[in-house]
Parts: sequence; structure tokens; C-alpha cells
Amino acid sequence: MIDSHCHLDHSPLYEKLDEIVNRAEISGVRCLLTICTSLKSFEMIKRIILKYKNIYGSVGIHPHETKDHINVDKNMLISLRNENNKVIALGETGLDFYYQNSDKFIQKKKFVEHIEAAIELDLPIIVHSRNAEIDTFNILKDFSSKNPKILMHCFTGSSDFSEKMLSLGAYISLSGIITFNKSKELQKTAFSVPIDRLLIETDSPYLAPIPKRGSANEPSFIKYTAIKLAEIKQISYEDLIVYTSNNFNKLFSLSQ
Ligand SMILES: [Zn+2]
Repeated sequence: MIDSHCHLDHSPLYEKLDEIVNRAEISGVRCLLTICTSLKSFEMIKRIILKYKNIYGSVGIHPHETKDHINVDKNMLISLRNENNKVIALGETGLDFYYQNSDKFIQKKKFVEHIEAAIELDLPIIVHSRNAEIDTFNILKDFSSKNPKILMHCFTGSSDFSEKMLSLGAYISLSGIITFNKSKELQKTAFSVPIDRLLIETDSPYLAPIPKRGSANEPSFIKYTAIKLAEIKQISYEDLIVYTSNNFNKLFSLSQ
């Protein structure tokens, strides 16, 4: 299995990283992508990817953090990425109009900087979108002639939104939210997403899946999301893992 989105630099994962990485390996997770949220986060991510062979990282500013990173532009993102070849994605970026921790205008501006950097580097962008489906789609659509590689992380949107994103060539990553009882609509959407566009993630330490709900999430818990998604897609657990891992490797141009 591959956990396409976790935050290993966030507490309480960072404090017991050896233990967490070991448990992930034992439960069959062979690759992790730890996602950057701020400049401070990037410093920790560089340390993590240097230490562990099967962990890759990203560079980017979470929409919540954009107000404190006004100076981070396309060129800075490109030069930060070029500090380390195990940085294989830009993000997480995108729009969050639910919390609006940062002004909408700033979020949009920074989203565009990330997209431009990703296109120039030919790397995928990890997109966070909450209460912002129309703007997320419209901004990405403006770049469609340049074929950006798009990964919609922790997808919880409408089926209409998933179809629009798929039309732009995006991959859709599902988290433990699909295991929740209230996620009937999302489960229906997951059923309709083509199997060759699906990825799985934990978004740990957040959003622990059932039956671990309430505890800090960690990459080893990805199996619960995989079990649920296999059930939704009506395929075997083994096939689900082969598909989602192949999709990850294809999107990130990895041969593992
Ligand atoms: Zn995240």
C-alpha cells in the first residue's frame, strides 16, 4: 500500500516517527508521501525524507497558511523543490472557503503560484478544496492547455465536481472519511470514479478511519480505507492495492 498524503511533521506523529514508520511497514505500507504545509514544515520534511528511504515529500503552503507566507511565490517554490530530489510534488495548495483562515484573494493568488511552479517542474500538484468547488475548477481549467498533473486530496466533493476534475485529467484521493457512516454520498461518488484514477491516503494525524475513529491517525491505518474502498468498488482488497499503487507510481513517475 501507499499512503499518498500524511503529515509526518505534525504532532503526535513527529515525536514517535521511528515507531510510526515501523508500524506502517509491518502493516504493508511500502511508500509514504509526507505533505508540506508551511516553510517551517518544509524544514522538517527535508529531515524526514533524508532519514527514511521510502518516504517522499512535497513543498507548498496550505491554504490556511497563505496569509503568513505572502512572499512565497513560484520562483521560491521551484528553488525549494530543487533542494532535494525526493520532493516529488507541489502542495498542499488549493482553496479553503470553509474556514477562511486566509483571505480568499490571497488563497487564489498562492494557488496559481503553486500551479505555475508545478507545470514548470512537471510535478503533480496536491490540491485541497473545501467549499470552493467552482473556484478550484475554474482556476485549474485556465491551465488545462498545459496539462498540469493534479491530485485532489482527501476528496469530499460532489459527484459533479469529481466529474469536472476527472475531465481535467485529475486523480482523486480518498481518505478515511469514506469509512464514516454519514459518507453515503461520497461512497456513491467513489463508486463512479474510474479505478485508474483513484488513490488512497490517511491525511494522518487527522481523520482516523473507522474503527480507529477518535485516535490520532497514522499511515498503518490506511488498510481500513483500502478495505472500504475495495468493498465500494466491488473488487478484491489485493486488486485495490495494486491499482491504487500503480496509479500513484504513474502520477509521480516512480518506478517502484
Ligand atoms: Zn493534508
